Amino acid sequence: MEPWFQSYSGGPGVGAWPRTTGRSATNTYSTMNTVKRLKTPILSLALLTAGLCMAEQPTRILFFSKSSGFEHTVIARMDGKPSYAENVLDGIAKTKGWEFEFSKDGSKFSPDYLKSFHTVIFYTSGDLTKTGKDKQPAMSKEGVKALFEYVRNGGGFIGLHCASDTFHSKGAGTFENHECPSDFICMVGGEFIGHGSQQKATNKVINPKFPGYENLGESFTLMEEWYALKNFNPDMHALTVIDPKGMDGGRKNVYDRPAYPTSWARMEGKGRVYYNAMGHREDVWDGDLFKNMIIGAVEWTSGAKQVEIPANLKEVAPEYHINQFETKPATTAP
Ligand SMILES: [Zn+2]
Repeated sequence: MEPWFQSYSGGPGVGAWPRTTGRSATNTYSTMNTVKRLKTPILSLALLTAGLCMAEQPTRILFFSKSSGFEHTVIARMDGKPSYAENVLDGIAKTKGWEFEFSKDGSKFSPDYLKSFHTVIFYTSGDLTKTGKDKQPAMSKEGVKALFEYVRNGGGFIGLHCASDTFHSKGAGTFENHECPSDFICMVGGEFIGHGSQQKATNKVINPKFPGYENLGESFTLMEEWYALKNFNPDMHALTVIDPKGMDGGRKNVYDRPAYPTSWARMEGKGRVYYNAMGHREDVWDGDLFKNMIIGAVEWTSGAKQVEIPANLKEVAPEYHINQFETKPATTAP
């Protein structure tokens, strides 16, 4: 068991703790701290046992990879076998003592289903209330509502790569009217525009203290399919920023713009939200750089690790909003 795992003496168990205990920086305590406060050895033993039982509850994570729109190779299941991404995550789970549920079934989403997870990861595309491309069961409107309530009440949410290509806004640039472009895009924190050819690009590391970012140095260069994004939620804490100058933006020239963020963290109500635009290529999934980012994101969104995430978008990427698809500046978060 990882030493960072929280124990909640007397708590109701994994399923309910996101909504009943809170997960602020001051709320984390260990089994040993709990024991030190006890009066008698017998009680100590009883509560130590209880604490250990709680501590043995593994972190449970939902990896949801339904593709109502474009289906990426890395999450496709061939002949009923686990996808490439699922195999990588399974390897991480074995080293960390975590439990993943791998699902493409949108019909499962409900308050009861979601409360069994510390955090949920979306690697999705399109309107998930439609069966769409992969023919997997759609989310109901109640299921989508349950997801928002889960996060706003303290559940963790991680969006990877095409999560920003999910539940698109109807039009661009509505942040300037103090509105969410779409509830989902607002929660994720940004919206997919397009991408050029896969190419090496350099990302500046904004916050090396964020879990999973400790060993990245000041910047890193990686071969990847780099998303151009818009509709950034101005309340975000940007973690990495790409300067697309000189990149091949293809027919639409999507990289003809100033620097913008490629990964970030933000709060959605009481819930911790993390997004990373990377995750297209198999060799990116194989590399320690991306794996460490996923591990850190799970640790942070599940409340196991704490870090300050002040809004910094205007300081670290002041012209983030300038692109040919969204020309007016965003102002304040809804
Ligand atoms: Zn992709």
